[in-house]
Amino acid sequence: EEQKQTHQFKTEVQQLLNLIINSLYSNKDIFLRELISNASDAIDKLRFKSQTEPEILGSDTEFRIKLTADPENKTLEVSDNGIGMTYDEVMENIGTIAKSGTAAFMQALEQAKNQETLTPELIGQFGVGFYSSFIVAQKVTLITKAAGSDKAVRWESSGDGNFTIEETEKESRGTTIILKLKEKEEGDKDFTQEWTIRSIVKQHSDFVNYPIVMDVEKDEPVPENEQIKDKDGKPVGDTTRKVVKQETLNSMKAIWAKNKSEISDEEYKEFYKHISHDWNDPLTHIHMKLEGVTEYSALLYIPSKAPFDMFFPDRKHGIQLYCRRIFIMDDCKELMPEYLRFIKGLVDASDLNLNVSREILQQDRLVRNIKKNLVKKVLEMLKAMESEEYEKFYNEFGQVLKEGINSDWENKDKIADLIQYKTTKSNDKYVRLKDYVSNMKPEQEEIYYITGDNLSMLINSPHLEALKDKDYEVLLMTDPVDEWVVQSLTEYEGKKLKSAEKGDLNLDKTEDKKDEKFNALFGFIKSKLDSKIKEVKPSSHLKNSLACLSGDSNDMSAYMEKLLKASGG
Ligand code: ADP
Ligand code: MG
Repeated sequence: EEQKQTHQFKTEVQQLLNLIINSLYSNKDIFLRELISNASDAIDKLRFKSQTEPEILGSDTEFRIKLTADPENKTLEVSDNGIGMTYDEVMENIGTIAKSGTAAFMQALEQAKNQETLTPELIGQFGVGFYSSFIVAQKVTLITKAAGSDKAVRWESSGDGNFTIEETEKESRGTTIILKLKEKEEGDKDFTQEWTIRSIVKQHSDFVNYPIVMDVEKDEPVPENEQIKDKDGKPVGDTTRKVVKQETLNSMKAIWAKNKSEISDEEYKEFYKHISHDWNDPLTHIHMKLEGVTEYSALLYIPSKAPFDMFFPDRKHGIQLYCRRIFIMDDCKELMPEYLRFIKGLVDASDLNLNVSREILQQDRLVRNIKKNLVKKVLEMLKAMESEEYEKFYNEFGQVLKEGINSDWENKDKIADLIQYKTTKSNDKYVRLKDYVSNMKPEQEEIYYITGDNLSMLINSPHLEALKDKDYEVLLMTDPVDEWVVQSLTEYEGKKLKSAEKGDLNLDKTEDKKDEKFNALFGFIKSKLDSKIKEVKPSSHLKNSLACLSGDSNDMSAYMEKLLKASGG
């Protein structure tokens, strides 16, 4: 570890790097936000650790992120006094795609490439992070010293496949990133100019929790006693002089702590982008402040686009936890159920202990209360949404929301009010269960559904012939999760949900009597197919077709069987 080593980027990292460089040239500013957010994360981590190990801070207790520009040498530095990284951590974190299942991530990218839909919005979802430095830099140098360590590490790369890493000296804890900027092209901003940096920080990083500071030159009046005066007492020469002062560029305001009326739409949107790393505007938000026994405020957003990792096992939740404006943790699964994992935002609870651990959170009554209330609020908001907005929401997140039918018994009915399906009569439009029920034929007693992965196959299924003949509507369920929905949601508004493909439909009680004259034929068919089938009997499903395969009412549906086979179950 002593000498300088050269390593190659992992293939997918280099691919990602090229992709970022080639597709984000019109969003260059983004690199600064990403570096500042890493610096802020690093300070969060250190501060959290210092709750239990106060000695780790030493004398360096004033957290800050410092920007230093050098117009002559065309460099820009972002430096923090956060947790820093050890040699191994640099190897692990810089040069891999640590945050997401790499394979799946690249798969999503490949897919996007094929469809030529590789928009900045899409890449924005991936949180390009550290690698975005290479949009503006021809060379990136990272010098870092982990808190509590006496060794520092220097990492350097030109983004062309290789990086070098070696031990080095660094005075104080934390990380410094030095960007050697590319030659400016026509229309490019100069990222070493004070006002350019100011405006980017203001736009993208204003909410960052720690001061983002920069040394700026200012005019200052020369103090009276230092002025040179002529014999009449009039000053000779300049009465002002240039001084360099450190200035804080961001306001650090906690917008969730303010009143709604003081916050503009723009501010809400910028704050969303700040905490979510998404570049798109959110679909909508809820901002609430609760005073009383449990005191907390919450600012929650529904994104306008589903993240690419929504169904990955190691996906993150989007809720951050604060206590009196001090960041405690992100990815706080304890505050939002799995089926609302797409919600981004934060909760600031006054009565939490800053030392709180995840284990404690799980058992904390206050946290459970907050969670319960947040779920209630989110479901209410979804219910109150205008239909156009709700369609947008449902197309992105309906599949996830439906998981709640199975997992949140307490709110099952409320979620059932929110789910919707295309039907045999809806002409490709969604129908809510409530509307299905109010459109039921007078003599119709049950809610009919059929499951499968292909809409047009479902519509044309022979199982539906008898129901169509009666002019009964059938819900067409095409999500894998629907199989679980129908297992948990056995009835809605007192009407039973009934599979259109399994068991007897009992459409007309009078038709039910067994017709003995077919017994010989059925026996013959059964003897031919033998082990492949359970029983041959007259069908209540068919009108025009001769025969169909049907399950018993307690059997698995054909679709469920297919799903289980596909998953190796
Ligand atoms: P993300 O921040 O989403 O994890 P990044 O690409 O931005 O992804 O950063 C990758 C990782 O590198 C971070 O998770 C962190 O472990 C490490 N890292 C980056 N910048 C810093 C920094 N300033 N201080 C400490 N660690 C850092
Ligand atoms: Mg980052």
